[in-house]
Amino acid sequence: MLLHFIFLLKEKEKLQHQDDYAYIKEMSKFYKFWIQKNFLVDVEINCDVLIANKRNIIQRLDIPLLMKDHFTRDKNTYHFYLCYFKPIWTDCSCDGYHAENFGMTWWQYTKDNCYDPQLVQKNCAIVSHEISHELLRQQKNKKYIDIVHQIWSEHLFGELKFQQYDENFCVTENDSKFLTIDASKFNISAFCH
Ligand SMILES: [Zn+2]
Repeated sequence: MLLHFIFLLKEKEKLQHQDDYAYIKEMSKFYKFWIQKNFLVDVEINCDVLIANKRNIIQRLDIPLLMKDHFTRDKNTYHFYLCYFKPIWTDCSCDGYHAENFGMTWWQYTKDNCYDPQLVQKNCAIVSHEISHELLRQQKNKKYIDIVHQIWSEHLFGELKFQQYDENFCVTENDSKFLTIDASKFNISAFCH
């Protein structure tokens, strides 16, 4: 499977957010590792930028237009859009949306558009929420929606900590670079395959 991250930028901000994009490129490699570790699946990764302009998507951008872009490219590639806007509607308990081979999340910036190491990790965690839906769905887990939302609630409202990884993708207690849902709770083992 190819997992293709697409960082969506406004035309007028296309020269900004270089630090975010550098992080996203690292995050892409991280998710290759994380998916292998937690879902026992090898994925290829691609990562690039899409500028939202008149020639591709300009109107009020929302999920239907992103889905159209996804189908135009290749419906068998798992496209994951990192967007500067929230989904108008979602059944998720976070600012993201999932469908077959499709994911989107709100990639949040600070008010002054500066790079914020805390905020990118929060963005990263929301990405793990949507990836979990899709990987569980692909593994034919009928509870691929509920199980993610249950664990997510434990993160937000209970005692469960988000998993923290350092720049070498090792689990860490402090100085984390990547934050994810605790995928060990999905109880996926090699015996399932
Ligand atoms: Zn969800």
